Amino acid sequence: MRVAFLGPPGAGKGTQARELAREWGVPHLATGDMLREAVAAGTRLGLAAQRYMEQGALVPDDVIIDLMRERLAAADATKGFILDGFPRTIAQAEALGKVLAETGQALGAVVFFDVSEAELLRRLTGRRVCRQCQATYHLVSAPPAKTGICDKCGGELYQREDDSEKTVRNRLEVYTRQTAPLLDYYRGHSLLRTVRGEGPIDGIRRAIREAAGDAR
Ligand code: AMP
Repeated sequence: MRVAFLGPPGAGKGTQARELAREWGVPHLATGDMLREAVAAGTRLGLAAQRYMEQGALVPDDVIIDLMRERLAAADATKGFILDGFPRTIAQAEALGKVLAETGQALGAVVFFDVSEAELLRRLTGRRVCRQCQATYHLVSAPPAKTGICDKCGGELYQREDDSEKTVRNRLEVYTRQTAPLLDYYRGHSLLRTVRGEGPIDGIRRAIREAAGDAR
């Protein structure tokens, strides 16, 4: 299973990827999570990425491509993966194709999560994330049992700095300008599968399984 999840911020890629990665026994490779860890740890990568992330801009392609080239070479990624939030530009998509081809691999499907802009704004501005396990909640539609505490691991919930309304609008613009062209790119490679990303989580998950070629 070599799949990339494509879609705007707030489309539900991370929520579905975490669950399906467990189900399929493949790693969930989320560039946003990797970058946030690097920022928290104060590494060189984190310092290079932080100001872009705070503004809702994309981190430069060369930084992301080096990061993912290294990550994809790790033993756990050789038998499959779910990419979440990567690639986000045509240059990243081309680099990904090359990196995989070097080891005789290729993407099997790119699953596009189709969600309306009004719903994205609602989800992102109400989103809360667990610092420990990255599980996500929504203040109104999916609150935790105990305010501010993760149901799954007891970790502390926080609002991502880039989930403020102003930065969210910028991220959505950046998506439209820099990432949405990937729809045509992957359509041209006959890899694009569209899933409607609104409605019950289980129904969306079934649609993703089907789109990714999981026959179960
Ligand atoms: P995410 O968690 O996927 O919403 O990513 C959070 C932030 O990390 C983005 O707004 C970007 O600043 C940065 N980022 C994550 N993935 C990428 C990528 N593939 N290319 C460039 N920047 C990225």
